[in-house]
Amino acid sequence: MSFQQIFNKPPETEASAPGRVNLLGEHTDYNDGFVLPTAIPQCTTVQLGFSSDRQHHFYSENFNEQVSILDINYTPSGFASYIFGCIEVLQQAGYTIPSLFVYVKSSVPMGSGLSSSAALEVATLRAIRKLLNLPINDVEVAQLAQKAEIHYAGVQCGIMDQIASSLADTEHILFLDTRTLERRVMPLPDGAEIVVIDSGVPRTLASSGYNQRRAECEQAARSLGVKALRDITIVEALEILPEPLRRRARHVVTENNRVLEVLQGVSSQRFGELMNASHASLRDDYEVSVPALDTLVDMLQKTPGVFGARLTGAGFGGACVALVTAGEARSITTRILEQYNQAGYSGQILVPSWEL
Ligand code: ADP
Ligand code: MG
Repeated sequence: MSFQQIFNKPPETEASAPGRVNLLGEHTDYNDGFVLPTAIPQCTTVQLGFSSDRQHHFYSENFNEQVSILDINYTPSGFASYIFGCIEVLQQAGYTIPSLFVYVKSSVPMGSGLSSSAALEVATLRAIRKLLNLPINDVEVAQLAQKAEIHYAGVQCGIMDQIASSLADTEHILFLDTRTLERRVMPLPDGAEIVVIDSGVPRTLASSGYNQRRAECEQAARSLGVKALRDITIVEALEILPEPLRRRARHVVTENNRVLEVLQGVSSQRFGELMNASHASLRDDYEVSVPALDTLVDMLQKTPGVFGARLTGAGFGGACVALVTAGEARSITTRILEQYNQAGYSGQILVPSWEL
């Protein structure tokens, strides 16, 4: 189905935005710390046209579903809430948005931690910006997108996903200080590319585990007399903490330091070592890994051509990310997946994408 087939006219304009994967800096964002995401090749495209019946009409090719916003006071749910949220936050920022036909298609895997939601929001905002020539910069796009997700999709998210989708591309990594929003776009490490493999293990315990870790970090920060664990830079300062708070805090402090080391400029080799250290820290100190993720990461780390690998996202299941020699991603992922699935799992290659 095309825009033309759904809405009986061609689109006026279109824009795209990518999904993202976080390379380093896990569980640091809610500690006011540092993150290091990059864009993935898969993206979401939003096409727009003017609707003449004073109603918004949204269509998602992925869902083959159309939603019409009949009344401005009506609050949509599901995918429409992300798009409607983008329109609403623009109106609140003082822009008059006409009734729109919105057509969405995407190659970003949904619900796999590659941030299809931010890609949808950023693509929608970019397309509206283009259609109406709005004076909004890319950082503002990210901030509006985050607002839309929090207030209209009801997801209490930080700003990493939207900033990454709005500012990063597949050739660059994006350093972001989640406290100050200071950021820097840097090239990917030399001669390296990204691999993402889903472990096939659903993140069933993720939300309760996540909330518990968050509470532990807040408690640790309180005991140390700082606003957030980001304010601690040396692990010796953590010795006064009881376990398991000391281990949890140690992960955050060492993880922030790993991201800051990358900021100084590191080789692919060193970047990989930092990813490996991050995984060990997430497994042993933060305790958010599961056997499947450890198995997959172990296989990746032992494979020639892999600089480093770790779990990515909140953990308790989900995906692993690896940095591998440029040009070898396809052969490495195919080999690893075969090996991993022979061990009884149902893994899946997310990046590189076979569809592109
Ligand atoms: P993630 O961002 O990790 O992929 P989320 O749960 O945050 O997972 O966002 C997924 C939701 O975003 C989907 O359930 C859907 O509502 C919306 N979404 C993302 N991409 C699309 C799309 N192409 N078409 C319709 N809805 C989409
Ligand atoms: Mg999301």
